[in-house]
Amino acid sequence: MTGSNTAPPLPDYAPVPRSALGPALNAQGYFVGRVERNLFWVTDGTYQSAFLATRDGIVLFDAPPTIGHNLRRAVDEIAETEGVPNTVTHLVYSHHHADHGGAASLFGGDVVRIGHAETRRLLLRDNDPARPAPEVTFEDQHTLRAGGERVELAWHGPNHSPDNIYIHFPDHDTLMLIDVVNAGWVPIYNLNLSEDVPGYLDAPARALAYPWKHFLGGHLGRLGTRDDLTLHQRYIDDIVESAREALGSVDPTPWFQKYGENAWAAVAGYLDAVTAQAAAPVIAKYTGVLAAADVPAFTTSTTFTILQSMRLDLGAGSQVHP
Ligand SMILES: [Zn+2]
Repeated sequence: MTGSNTAPPLPDYAPVPRSALGPALNAQGYFVGRVERNLFWVTDGTYQSAFLATRDGIVLFDAPPTIGHNLRRAVDEIAETEGVPNTVTHLVYSHHHADHGGAASLFGGDVVRIGHAETRRLLLRDNDPARPAPEVTFEDQHTLRAGGERVELAWHGPNHSPDNIYIHFPDHDTLMLIDVVNAGWVPIYNLNLSEDVPGYLDAPARALAYPWKHFLGGHLGRLGTRDDLTLHQRYIDDIVESAREALGSVDPTPWFQKYGENAWAAVAGYLDAVTAQAAAPVIAKYTGVLAAADVPAFTTSTTFTILQSMRLDLGAGSQVHP
């Protein structure tokens, strides 16, 4: 069991559709571009952040640690070309997760931090010096006014996380909703590691109910469009439909007969078989359409998560013993 020559071969995958990729990164490893007017976005190819360059300074939306100090460089670059102060005056947390807020502490003591009340509670719980808790909080809705700009923050219930908010820029034709839709790509494990499955499934329709043209989903290297959200909805709808069919057609009897008193072995064998049967046609249909649809862990774990939500949240397949 030693030596690298015992490692299993690494699998090959379908090429990433060119349409899933974004602009090239600069020598420091980031790209900063204009979304509309004075709203800018920053990416390192995997994570995204955004900021408004206002006459009074910079209003920052999320601070992913992978972009880290490149956020400062991107802000300085744009502040200079736009002729505005480079001081970060406000920082908005989309939700409490460290992979989107872990560079928040880079922006000094004077910044006004804004987030959902639950974001504050969770950040106080997590007690991470890299993510100071927001002092300005709200429950359902908050209008942020800064430097002559207006941003509408709203919480419409739990989805990816309990505290994930919708960030609408009505004067920039843009919506920011993190960790729900990855434009051009499938969600990663278990519906983007989401906590509330019905809330997650509902979120793209809520996002589409807002008027906007540009979408910031928080991940990968390009901005999203309304078409990206409807394609994501079709992928998810196909998984739901396929899961329903598999639940109705796979017979659990062989596993329970074989494993006898080891009930958990039977449950695992049966649920894995339902998941595999449900995921297979979706993987085939979306390979080459959504990047990484054929990375089996992603579509398969997402299918498993949806199946469990259908059983546990919706009661599918539950029968009361006679
Ligand atoms: Zn997250």
